[in-house]
Amino acid sequence: MNTEVLRKELEEYNEELIKMRRYLHENPELSYQEINTAKYVADKLRSFGVEVREHVGGTGVVGLIRGKTGRITIGLRADMDALPVEEQTGLPFASKNKGVMHACGHDSHTAMLLAAAYILSKHRDELDGNIKFLFQPAEEDGGRGGALPMIEDGALENPHVDHVFGLHVLGDFPAGTFAIRGGAIMAAPDGFKITVHGKGGHGSAPADAIDPIYIGSNIINALYGVRSRFIDQRKPVTISVCSVHSGTKDNIIPDNLEMLGTLRTLDEDLRAFIKKKIGDTAAGVAEAFGARAETEFIENAYPVTYNDPKITEEVRSVLESIKGMKVIETEPLMGGEDVSRFLQKAPGTYYFLGTRNEKKGIIYPNHSPRFTVDEDYLKYGALSHVLVAMHFAGKK
Ligand SMILES: [Zn+2]
Ligand SMILES: [Zn+2]
Repeated sequence: MNTEVLRKELEEYNEELIKMRRYLHENPELSYQEINTAKYVADKLRSFGVEVREHVGGTGVVGLIRGKTGRITIGLRADMDALPVEEQTGLPFASKNKGVMHACGHDSHTAMLLAAAYILSKHRDELDGNIKFLFQPAEEDGGRGGALPMIEDGALENPHVDHVFGLHVLGDFPAGTFAIRGGAIMAAPDGFKITVHGKGGHGSAPADAIDPIYIGSNIINALYGVRSRFIDQRKPVTISVCSVHSGTKDNIIPDNLEMLGTLRTLDEDLRAFIKKKIGDTAAGVAEAFGARAETEFIENAYPVTYNDPKITEEVRSVLESIKGMKVIETEPLMGGEDVSRFLQKAPGTYYFLGTRNEKKGIIYPNHSPRFTVDEDYLKYGALSHVLVAMHFAGKK
């Protein structure tokens, strides 16, 4: 299929793409509550003549276009959930759902994938393989998420999905760019809680108490030493303690202290090593001062988002064929992504569409209450979905 023909079709469809994005932006829904969004997606897919399965793993929606032979099945994925953020963009289509905002651009993802489904549905006779559209809930959850429930509910079977591709709009990159890399592209985001059990007492007599605040501060120092003294300096790792709670008054040594933090890694072996090291370090430091520390990691944190190197090279060349767009190599990002669960089951690629545009005042990062995207480039995101699908599932 000719890239230019598809580009023209998407240009003709652009008004509708923007309309869908704005409707979704105005009506954001939080993780696991994407009921109206899912219905909107399912109705649109049906109107394109795409087979639809609803309520997949909760509020997930799966669309299917069957190719002639079904020799391969390509999964294209978009996330649908919004964030608990009070929108401050002042846009005419700002959120009507108070305190909830599409501050991560999942409205754009959903609209781009719907536009791609429309174009692909018109070209179904040029498809050898099948195309599955994976509209997932709860990407922002960070734990169980939305991909896992969909996988457990059979989203990647009947027909079996061979490869998954995902796309994210990102304020870190300028409009007019795709950013991609083979290997790890997003981190495993492990949240942890450390509880220090000391012994409370009078602030004037610390020797009679076991001070969990003093011990907690030593644990924080020791944890930051894990990164600098136990890990190969060439490997990206982030350890941050982001919340510390203890005590009630200036002259009371409390019994306990609780701290919350996050660990980010790009390698599953290193991840397992550091998780153990964090627990051992907290326990060891606490023990040295006569206290006890327990470490718990949140269950079901997302794995590393890993781009299959060979498939990524093919996707890179597909992206490079889109005139007017630049393809850049990105460093890995230390955020986490639920797409990792799909990629574990069906090797593929996850890449970024830059949406920052200083000239238009579009300068705020994802998750900011002022985050927005340069809509003029969404059609290229949709085009990339179409071209990637055609590349892998088109007639040879
Ligand atoms: Zn996000
Ligand atoms: Zn996101």
